[in-house]
Amino acid sequence: MKKKIIVGNWKMNPTNLIDAKKIVSSVNKLSTKLNNTDVVLCPPFIYLPKLISNKKNNNVSFGAQNSYSEERGSYTGEVSPTMLKEFGVKYVIIGHSERRAMGETDEIVSKKIALAIDTGLKPILCVGESEHDSQGVYLDTLKNQIKMSLDKVQKKYISEIIIAYEPIWAIGAKEPMSTSVINEMVIFVKKVVSDMYGHENGISIPVLYGGSVSFRNASDIVANGGVNGLLVGRESVNPEGFVELLKAVDAI
Ligand code: PEP
Repeated sequence: MKKKIIVGNWKMNPTNLIDAKKIVSSVNKLSTKLNNTDVVLCPPFIYLPKLISNKKNNNVSFGAQNSYSEERGSYTGEVSPTMLKEFGVKYVIIGHSERRAMGETDEIVSKKIALAIDTGLKPILCVGESEHDSQGVYLDTLKNQIKMSLDKVQKKYISEIIIAYEPIWAIGAKEPMSTSVINEMVIFVKKVVSDMYGHENGISIPVLYGGSVSFRNASDIVANGGVNGLLVGRESVNPEGFVELLKAVDAI
């Protein structure tokens, strides 16, 4: 069985390096005991070089929360995948709904993904509907988002991508989406990829679920939701909760 992938999206937290190191050291301590789980920690850019130099175990990798669509140039405030790669970053979250809400379109997302792959980073593409309407319009929304975001990815590179399905209404909420619906949505995402890149690629693309995952619900989602892992927001900056989550998932 393939290892489960647990991605921690720290967002703009914590506000100091000491607390950031505490999270990494809790994960490092546990990581030698993890047999079935790969952990990807995605702190704010500024902490990455310091935290990566403390990396202890191969089960733990680092990712960025964003990267730019150009390698260099006059783009004030942006960070390119080449710069991230130099510091040992392996993954990059692209198209998170919080960035899409700031104006990131599917076209921008597709350019960022293409450059990240060219640079040798593994993109974690975030997709998800804002409303799970009863007419099923959300299925078209999701299909279009996936198609447009992957527009520039050739078939030979599709195995580099991880998709994180994150229904926007379930992010930062009280409860995650129900496990049975997560299962249906994972099948749908894989079907869209399969229509674009062939059956084998559709089956094997890792699909993660994100949205109000905690140490309490993580193992149920992984065991019964048909997912290849989780994208975790709030619980990933709570060292005790995140360690419990990792233990629970690893035990499945
Ligand atoms: C996220 O922002 O990607 C996320 C899943 O957040 P939370 O786990 O806090 O809902």
